[in-house]
Amino acid sequence: MEQEKIKWPFGAKCAVLFTIHVDGESLYNRDPQKPSPRRMSYGTYGPVRAVDRLLALAEQKRIPCSYFIPGQIAQRYPEMVKKIDAMGHEIGFHGYDHEENMYRELSKEGWMEVIERAQQVFERLVGKRAVGYVATSCDFGEDAPEVWYRELGFQYSSSMRGDDRPYRVSFGGRKSNFIEIPARWELDDYPFFIYSFDPPQPRGQDRIASYDGVLANWKHEFDGYYAEGGCMTFMLHPQIIGIPGRCELLEELIDYMKEKPDVWFATGQEIARWWREVYGGEEE
Ligand SMILES: [Zn+2]
Repeated sequence: MEQEKIKWPFGAKCAVLFTIHVDGESLYNRDPQKPSPRRMSYGTYGPVRAVDRLLALAEQKRIPCSYFIPGQIAQRYPEMVKKIDAMGHEIGFHGYDHEENMYRELSKEGWMEVIERAQQVFERLVGKRAVGYVATSCDFGEDAPEVWYRELGFQYSSSMRGDDRPYRVSFGGRKSNFIEIPARWELDDYPFFIYSFDPPQPRGQDRIASYDGVLANWKHEFDGYYAEGGCMTFMLHPQIIGIPGRCELLEELIDYMKEKPDVWFATGQEIARWWREVYGGEEE
């Protein structure tokens, strides 16, 4: 079906955004009554080992990325956060402790305070606040995005799944200049590669997809996005994609995408800014 092509900067045919979720131990430390050192070490792998590998790859290929880091993990690994920032990547909000239920369990003041706590960590470490919001696995109340935008200064979110192009978010039926850059599970490393024996992930066990198969999937998706002109938004996790062989997979994918001269690799912040400039408008 013919649809109007998106105008990307520099005459690019499509945009590619790598969101990197540095969940660290926050995903694996759910019950303080039952310490679980081995579980937690699965998350530790990200900050202590894999992030460096991803940073080196991004530097070599000149790919700016958006790193979403729970505040507590940023606090635990300050040098990592400073390095990510110094290398020109964006740092975004992803909970303080990867909260799973904060919109159900806390009042508005309560969850605003969680967000503020993370922002203060970023401010202290790199002198700026996050403008991008990636919701953790929990859902959020319908009224939350308007608060992120109007009260907390966020410029965009990448939390929804319902499109493959950015869009202006509507509040009460009126379009705002708050931008959603939706991601897709198919472009997430979790469904293909997550594996933990305890707790069992996937629950029925038995899935580590073939690396070549995943690379082929992502190449096909790229071809589709390139032909249509969309915004290809990945969700990657250092502890999953950042092991040596999978980094090679990623490198091969990037090389494949770079064979085309007109692909815009950008951070979420850059994409949101572009969208507002070109497609934004009066807040109706
Ligand atoms: Zn996460």
